Order: sequence, then C-alpha cells, then structure tokens
Amino acid sequence: MGASKEIGFKVIVVGAGPSGLLLALLLAKQGISVTLIEKSSEYDKQPRASFYSYPAQYEFKRAGIMEDVDAKAFHANGVSWRNIDGSLIAQLDTSDSPPDFQMVSLPLDELLPLIGSHLDRQPSAEVLWSHKVLSLRQDEHQAWVEVESPSGTQTLYASYIVGCDGGGSKVRRELFGQNFPGRTWDEQIVATNVYLPNLKKHTPPDWTTSNFMISRDHFPMIAQISNDGLHRVTYGEEGGLTYDELRARQPDKYKAFVPGKPEPEDYKMINFSPYKIHQRLAERLRVGRVLLAADAAHLCNPFGGMGLTGGFADVGGLYDCLYGIYSGQCDDSILDKYSDIRREKYQDVIDPISSGNLRRLWDPKAIEDDEFIKMVRRTNTDREYAGQMREGVKAVMHDFTQYYNKT
Ligand SMILES: Cc1cc2nc3c(=O)[nH]c(=O)nc-3n(C[C@H](O)[C@H](O)[C@H](O)COP(=O)(O)OP(=O)(O)OC[C@H]3O[C@@H](n4cnc5c(N)ncnc54)[C@H](O)[C@@H]3O)c2cc1C
Repeated sequence: MGASKEIGFKVIVVGAGPSGLLLALLLAKQGISVTLIEKSSEYDKQPRASFYSYPAQYEFKRAGIMEDVDAKAFHANGVSWRNIDGSLIAQLDTSDSPPDFQMVSLPLDELLPLIGSHLDRQPSAEVLWSHKVLSLRQDEHQAWVEVESPSGTQTLYASYIVGCDGGGSKVRRELFGQNFPGRTWDEQIVATNVYLPNLKKHTPPDWTTSNFMISRDHFPMIAQISNDGLHRVTYGEEGGLTYDELRARQPDKYKAFVPGKPEPEDYKMINFSPYKIHQRLAERLRVGRVLLAADAAHLCNPFGGMGLTGGFADVGGLYDCLYGIYSGQCDDSILDKYSDIRREKYQDVIDPISSGNLRRLWDPKAIEDDEFIKMVRRTNTDREYAGQMREGVKAVMHDFTQYYNKT
C-alpha cells in the first residue's frame, strides 16, 4: 500500500497503558496530532503498578495531572525490611521528606481513567479502542500500521510510531522478531489486592506503608495502596506451578507471612494474578521512525517499583525529543540519543537496582551485611545523608532538552 506524504507532524502511540496514555497526553498538550491505538475495549484492571516516586511525579506535573493524582492517591509514610515474623531489620521513614519525594499510591485501574479523562479533553488527540496493531512498516517519509478494528482492517499513517504496547509488544516484535535480550527468573510471583481489616491488630507499631520480608520461600511485600484500606500483597512462588496450583496454595502462603496468620474468611481478596518476572532490554529503542518505550522497551521485576518509574522516565524523555523535532529545536538524530541513553539508564540503574531489590529478600543470613540495608539505617540518624539518598531516585531520569539546537 502506498504511503501519503500529506500527514503533517503526527504521532501514533500503540497501547493505552500508563506509558502510552501519558505520552499521548504530553504530546497533545503541545497541540501535536496524536492517535492512541488500544486493542482492548477498556482500561486494564490487573494488579500491577501502584507506587509512584519522584520521576513519575515529575512527569505527572508536566502533564498537568499531579493535582488530580494527589487528590485520589494514598500517601505513603515509608518502607521497611523485616524478618518473616514481622520484626524490623531496617526502615526508610519518608514521612518528613519534601512532598516531591514522598511516594504516592494509586492503583492502575484508577490512574488509567484519570490520565484518559485529561486526554479526552485534548482536541489534537484521538483514542481508538478495540484497534489491534497487526503489522508495521515505514519508508523515509512516514510509518504506518495495519490495525484490526470493529469496522475491518485499516491502515493508519504517522510521522512517528511509538510502541507503548507492553512486555509482549507487537511493535517490538515487528522490529526484532522474538529477540528481547535478557533473562526470565526461575521464580514467579503472585500479586494480590486484598482488604485485610484485622491487619492493624497484629502489626508492630513500626509497621510502614510498604514492608518487604526476607524469606527464600515467600519473599513477600505487604503494602497499603489506597485510602480505603486496600493492600497489595505480593509474594514469591516456585516456577512451573499452574494457575490452579498457585490459587490453591494462596491461603497457606498468607498464613506463613501476613501478621495474624489470617484465614480466608478474615480477608477479602479482589485480585489474584501470577506473573513471570524478567530482566530484558530491547537491542535498540529506535528503528527509523519507530520507537519503543516503557515495558515494550524493557522489563524488570516489580520489587521496588522500578518498572513504570523507568517507563515514565522514557516517556518524558521521548516527549521532549518529539516536541523538539516538531518545534524545530532539533533534528531527528535526537532519537538516537533517546535510544542510547534510555538503554544505558536500564543497564546502569534499573536492572541492577531492581535485581538487587529482589535478591536482598532471599537470604536472612546476608541481610546484616547488605550495603543497601546499612545505607537505609544510616538515614535514620544522618539527615543530610537521607537527603542525598532521596536525590538518588533521579538517576533514572535524563533531560533531553539539553540537546536542542545541538543535534
Ligand atoms: C505485580 C506488579 C506490580 C508492579 N508495581 C509497580 C509499581 O508499584 N511501580 C512501578 O513503577 N511499576 C510497577 N510495576 C510495573 C508496571 O506495572 C509496568 O511497568 C507498567 O504497567 C507498564 O506500562 P506500559 O504502559 O508500558 O504497558 P502495559 O501496562 O502493559 O500496557 C500496554 C497496553 O498496550 C496494549 N496493546 C498490547 N498489544 C497491542 C496491540 N497489538 N495493539 C494495540 N494495543 C496493544 C495492551 O492492551 C495494554 O493496554 C509492577 C508490575 C507488576 C507485575
């Protein structure tokens, strides 16, 4: 099929997950014509990202949604590392951190429609639900996708196409086939969203919003994620177990580590989702007019919330690059910098930190000698050091506007 040269500057974003929605909103707020293509007919409701730290909040502010996020979010007071009996090992108290550095929690089933409601108000944006990308091509002038839609197969054209279509990204597979370098952990995890009305009766006074427990068998994380008392309980499981086996083991798992050893009648579980966990990075995040961001570009295990934090940092960087090209402040070689620098951020920051966060939960004997645990303890007595450690979360970010008029 021939490609029209009359489209002007237009961006197609594939995937109305958190990264695609935020990128579309940032671009549309600058008047850039953007089409967001989503294969589902509604927002995803799986229990995934919930906690957002400084880099995510920075992009929420730029997109003009931070006030709305703040109004709905649960505000976290800190993170603890504990033995499996709940006793404290180390604690990061964030209750007196500057507001920008306090974690907020808003489960994706609330965040996605919130971003979407802002996007719906943008005249230069359109969202195409129930449109599934089947294939992708490009030439020197433009790129185009073939999509399956309720009204049949269509071809949609753009200056640039961004794959924000998640870990199984069709856009990435069109570029690189099955090649997604990295590894899959032998372990798997189960993420549950659950109301635990009696939890407070059984937790120690130093219990914080998020609590990681050290155990090779369970490596649980228990965190409150909403103002109405919803908790995220995520725990480790053996690889190779089926969904039904995992489901059957869940009550005993809870009894092994949730304070108070609750029986099923003591809680109300509203989501149960097993996940395989991966550390993977695409070999390039740019091929001509096609770009990859967030989970389509890289995956990490969710302990410590580095996944979407890195994804939103991609989105903010890519927005600056595309806006720079649109506004004539740079040429499109800035997209090569995007690819190189965002890959470096994954290799140097996201992969090592997220892998360390997971392994730290496995060995009760090694925990006392763990350098990160020593750093966390130091923040309790050394406020200046606590400030430096807070600033460390910015390491995942990069300001691409510094290359304007230099590319
Ligand atoms: C248990 C768990 C907890 C987590 N907690 C956190 C956390 O607290 N903080 C954090 O930062 N990260 C966290 N993460 C990671 C985070 O959830 C992901 O990084 C994030 O959801 C990725 O967003 P995305 O927009 O890139 O992809 P997705 O959310 O996967 O969205 C991709 C979208 O693309 C659509 N799509 C796919 N294929 C096509 C196609 N062919 N055509 C059209 N549309 C398509 C999909 O339907 C979907 O809507 C967690 C992950 C898990 C599993």
